[in-house]
Amino acid sequence: MKYFGAHVSASGGVENAPLNAHMIGAGAFALFTKNQRQWVAAPLTPAQIDAFRARCEEYGYRPFQILPHDSYLINLGHPDEAGLQKSRQAFTDEMKRCELLGLDRLNFHPGSTLKEIGEEECLARIAESINLALEATLGVTAVIENTAGQGSNLGWKFEHLAYIIDRVEDKSRVGICIDTCHAFSAGYDLSTAEACERTFAELDRVVGLRYLRGMHLNDDLKAQGSRVDRHAPLGDGTLGLEVFRYVAADPRFDDMPLILETPDESRWPDEIAQLYAFAGQPAPGVPTR
Ligand SMILES: [Zn+2]
Ligand SMILES: [Zn+2]
Repeated sequence: MKYFGAHVSASGGVENAPLNAHMIGAGAFALFTKNQRQWVAAPLTPAQIDAFRARCEEYGYRPFQILPHDSYLINLGHPDEAGLQKSRQAFTDEMKRCELLGLDRLNFHPGSTLKEIGEEECLARIAESINLALEATLGVTAVIENTAGQGSNLGWKFEHLAYIIDRVEDKSRVGICIDTCHAFSAGYDLSTAEACERTFAELDRVVGLRYLRGMHLNDDLKAQGSRVDRHAPLGDGTLGLEVFRYVAADPRFDDMPLILETPDESRWPDEIAQLYAFAGQPAPGVPTR
């Protein structure tokens, strides 16, 4: 089964995310479990946790259909000690929030050298950060997202993901999320079915598709290899629709959250419906009032 959705708002409380997902006809969703632009958040209250779990139950969202995303402030490969400690603490806190909500995975961008340390040193720090977070939590998988490689961000080469995973002690709780826009901007061709075949074969060879725990489905505003991270609505960018047809039709992408992070929210219901049509599967549909 395919589960398509979008990164919906959780403003006003995490319990609003499953409702917002239901309202756009989504079968999956992503959310921030706290304000993504602040370091510290108030702890989740028992009432919020209960409400979140009840809404997920009501609208039929199980943990494998949900892909929480961490704060953009966190850099698990931070070059200086204070920055690294702050990031590690915040990341572990986010893993614990997921655990409390009954969620089984947390998606994050690996980290950045800030041009102060070498790539391998940064990747090794990221792996150690993951090890520390896994030791401090239970049942939540750390899901590394590939990046566009903008600035000094790592994770744009599949080899970076493999290097990190290789150094994670508990391989059962580390995974990857592939963002189609990021992969294309990083230089991987996904513009035709044959190109998708080659790129996903390379991902399987370098990292292993068994680590895949979700996808971000975004078209790309910039050119292949631009190393710039700018998402476009499906079919409006340089990628075109072929990769989304490919993912929708391929059972290797079954039973995981397939998430839109496209810029025009008003188009999400149509984009989700189109993805379900590509999969040849009935869509949950937008509820009528
Ligand atoms: Zn993404
Ligand atoms: Zn992006």
